[in-house]
Amino acid sequence: MDNRTFRNAMGKFATGVTVITTDIDGEVHGMTANAFMSVSLNPPLILISIDEKAKMLSKIKKSGCFSVNILSEEQQEVSMLFAGQSSDKENVSFEKRNGNSVIKESLANIICTVYGSQVAGDHTLFIGEVEDVILRDGKPLAFYEGKYSRLTTPQLT
Ligand code: FAD
Repeated sequence: MDNRTFRNAMGKFATGVTVITTDIDGEVHGMTANAFMSVSLNPPLILISIDEKAKMLSKIKKSGCFSVNILSEEQQEVSMLFAGQSSDKENVSFEKRNGNSVIKESLANIICTVYGSQVAGDHTLFIGEVEDVILRDGKPLAFYEGKYSRLTTPQLT
C-alpha cells in the first residue's frame, strides 16, 4: 500500500469540517481540521489530531485550550481561509466566550481545555474536556474524497 492508496481510503470516510481556534498572546489562530471525534460523555471529551508541521500544534501546547467550530454549508470560504487556500478574511468574524475566540455562525462552538495528548506518528492527538457549547441551526459543510460537499435531502432515517 502506498501513501496515495492510504489517503484515498481515508477519503472514503465522509466527514464534517471544523476550524480549531486557540487564543495565544492576545491573538487568535485558526486551522481547518476534519480529524475530530467525540470520545466520552462523562466527563465530556472530544479528540482532534494535529500535524507536527502545523503551527497550531505549539499554540495549543502553550495555551492549554482550544475550540472546535463546526462549519455550516455557508462556511466553505471560512474552511478554505483556515486551510491556507484563500486569503479572503472578509468571511470570518469571531466572538468571545469566556475568553475564548469562536467563529460566529458556526453550527456549534465547542470550547475545551486540554485533558491529555498523545503523539501518534507525525500527528499529535489532543483530547479536550468540553467546558462550554454554543449551538445553532443549519446544515453542515461536508468533506468527501478530498472535496467539499453538502448533504442532500431526503435524509435516511
Ligand atoms: P497556518 O497555515 O499559518 O494558518 C492556516 C491559515 O489560517 C492561514 O492562511 C492563516 O492566514 C489563516 N489564519 C490563522 N489565524 C487567522 C486569523 N485569526 N484570522 C484570519 N486568518 C487566520 N491538518 C491537521 O493537522 N489535522 C486535520 O484534521 C486537518 N484536517 C483538514 C481538513 C480539511 C478539509 C482541510 C482542507 C485541511 C485539513 N488540515 C488538517 C490541513 C490544515 O488545515 C492546514 O495544513 C493548515 O494550513 C495548517 O495550519 P497552521 O496551524 O500550520 O497555520
